[in-house]
Amino acid sequence: MAETIELRNITKRFSGNTILDGINLDIAAGSVTVILGPSGSGKSTLLRCINHLEKLDGGTIRIGGNLVGYQQKGQALYELNSRQIAAQRAQIGMVFQQFNLFPHRTVLQNIIDAPMRVKNQRRQQAVLKARSLLQQVGLAARENDWPQQLSGGQQQRVAIARALAMDPEVMLFDEPTSALDPELVGEVLQVIKKLAHSGITMVIVTHEVGFAREVADNIVFMEEGKIVAAGPTREILDDRQNLRVRNFLATVL
Ligand code: ADP
Ligand code: MG
Repeated sequence: MAETIELRNITKRFSGNTILDGINLDIAAGSVTVILGPSGSGKSTLLRCINHLEKLDGGTIRIGGNLVGYQQKGQALYELNSRQIAAQRAQIGMVFQQFNLFPHRTVLQNIIDAPMRVKNQRRQQAVLKARSLLQQVGLAARENDWPQQLSGGQQQRVAIARALAMDPEVMLFDEPTSALDPELVGEVLQVIKKLAHSGITMVIVTHEVGFAREVADNIVFMEEGKIVAAGPTREILDDRQNLRVRNFLATVL
C-alpha cells in the first residue's frame, strides 16, 4: 500500500552550514514526485533524511498515518529508537546513482537477502518473489549472474528489483540513471515508468526532464536548501515566468 509523506519545516546542517532550510512538502499516497534542482541544492540530503540515513536538526517527517519520523516536542527533538527506525526503513525502498549491489552475491542472492534477513521470509517464498520481480524488470534469465557480468542498466534494474522485494510503500530514487551510459538510460526509466502509479509513493531525483514530464504528477524545484517552486508537473515546467526554473531547464535539456 502507498503512504503519504509529510515534511514540516525540515532543517539539516552539516558543520554549521544549513543544507536543508525549512522544507515543507506534502506528497500524496501513490503519487509520483520528481525533484529537480542544481547540484548541491540538497536533493540527496532530503531523500536521505526521509530514509533515516541522516538525522534531522529540526522539523518532522511523517510517512503514512501512524508512522512518525521525527517529532518536535516544544523545542526538544524527539528521536525514534532504533527499532522504530528499522520498522520505518523496511517500508522505504531506495535506489542510488551507484547501484550498490553486493558484488560477491548473485543477482538472486542480492534480491532475497533483505526479505529473508529483515522480514524473516522463508527462502522459497523470497525466491519466488525475486523471480517475479526479475521478470518485471526484464531480467528473468539472469538470476545466477554476478553483478559485474551485467551492464550498468541491468545492475540498476536489479537494484530496483531488490528494493521492491521488501514490498515498500515508498520508493526513493536518487539520480538512478546519472551513472549510466546514455544508451542504457532508457531501459531503466522504462522500468521506473511501469512502476509509477502502481500503488507505491515515488520520489525521484533526476535531471531527465522529458521523463519527469511524462511520469511525474508533481515537480519540486530546489535551490540552496529550499523549495523554490512546487506544483503540478505542467504548471511548473511550462511556467514561462519562473526564471529560476527556466534557466535550470535550459542547462539540462
Ligand atoms: P544534491 O543532491 O542536490 O546535489 P546534496 O544533498 O548532495 O545536493 O548536497 C547539498 C550540500 O550539502 C552540498 O553543499 C554538499 O557538499 C553538502 N553535504 C552533503 N552531504 C554532506 C556531508 N555528509 N557532510 C558535509 N556536507 C555535506
Ligand atoms: Mg545528489
